[in-house]
Amino acid sequence: MNILILGSGGREHTFAYKIAQSSKCSKLYVAPGNAGTASIAENIPLNPIDFVAVANIALEKEINMIVVGPEDPLVKGIVDFFANDERLKDIQIIGPSSRGALLEGSKERAKEFMAIHGIPTAAYESFSFESLEAGKNFLETLNSPYVLKADGLAAGKGVLIIDDLDEAKKELENMLSGKFGAASQKVVIEEFLDGIELSVFVLTDGRNYKILPTAKDYKRIGEGDTGLNTGGMGAISPVPFADETLMTKIEERIVKPTVKGLQEEEIDYKGFIFIGLIKVGEEPYVIEYNVRMGDPETEVVLPRIQSDLVELLEKTWSGDLDKASVEIDPRSATTVMLVSGGYPESYEKGKVISGLENVKDSIIFHAGTTNDGDKVVTSGGRVIALTSFGDDYRMALKKSYQSAGMLQFDKMYFRNDIGFDLS
Ligand code: ATP
Repeated sequence: MNILILGSGGREHTFAYKIAQSSKCSKLYVAPGNAGTASIAENIPLNPIDFVAVANIALEKEINMIVVGPEDPLVKGIVDFFANDERLKDIQIIGPSSRGALLEGSKERAKEFMAIHGIPTAAYESFSFESLEAGKNFLETLNSPYVLKADGLAAGKGVLIIDDLDEAKKELENMLSGKFGAASQKVVIEEFLDGIELSVFVLTDGRNYKILPTAKDYKRIGEGDTGLNTGGMGAISPVPFADETLMTKIEERIVKPTVKGLQEEEIDYKGFIFIGLIKVGEEPYVIEYNVRMGDPETEVVLPRIQSDLVELLEKTWSGDLDKASVEIDPRSATTVMLVSGGYPESYEKGKVISGLENVKDSIIFHAGTTNDGDKVVTSGGRVIALTSFGDDYRMALKKSYQSAGMLQFDKMYFRNDIGFDLS
């Protein structure tokens, strides 16, 4: 099959790495890709939200399957765009329809879905500018800290957690007045849940599902989970505290009702569901749904899947996921993200990355990199994810850090404490 992956990060390089291993894949394209994907696939310079450009490439290259990496094209309706075009409708595009993608595109919709289908999540109410006063009154009924969420996509910046009631009221007003543009025309206010987070990944054909390896990511730039939020600084799979008891609760109370809910609402969904969870005491609650894989979680989840990924995705498309089996590598995988100094604020690009050829004990997944002549240079904030295996996460991490020591670029930074909260 000819396969096209949309996106340009470490997640997409990991998909390319895994798909390239399949005997079913004859030609692999990544659009737009990075220096890493260029070494195993053909990069095509296009913007994944330019659906017409994606369609033209799909027809020209006789693409049979498309894997959509990021959320933006999904929320904007790429799956519907393909489904509604006679020439494109048989291309196996992996991802939900736009109605399914709303589970990520609108936090109000996600909360409503969970309420309707009895899925455990924080108590909430949703407000618009017209109901600002009601929102302020609702805040008064809650205990500190206060959780305010812009309804729409805000590149991971739309969630504020505020200790002081007056400040929370003020921020609510700012958000509803357009602090995050259209994304915060509505704001979800929810109860603060105190616990430890983990993520569960599910592949579904809309009826059947397979639970993929769990992962835990580290979002803050600073050690000890301090400082600004980033796209993710590292990840571990499996999550050591996700034991059988917890996983059974997650499957029965969350995964099953989620897939059943999609079916009941007749939502076309052939793709990944990334469920962000928080464990409060011994009980799991949903923090958020994402309608695609996470980055950097993909860098630890996919390498642990031993089954042929293309075969799994084919069965996802045809609605035969019940006939598939997913073999998982029992070892732990960890990834450590090397980032540009200054990220997630301003940073420089174009720094030469050296030492790539010396890394032997980790898989190098490129994120913000590009080729410049015969050199690989930085082109983004998150630059390289180093994934390693070990009998436990500590042994795997040791290898990722050893590999990090072999790489260099000007102002390179990484967190030295991935997994710090697990021991
Ligand atoms: P991201 O893009 O970073 O995944 P997001 O902007 O889609 O996030 P959420 O995942 O809903 O938003 O929230 C971001 C973070 O805020 C969560 O990972 C969690 O740490 C924290 N958070 C969200 N809701 C709650 C809650 N009800 N109680 C405690 N913490 C919360």
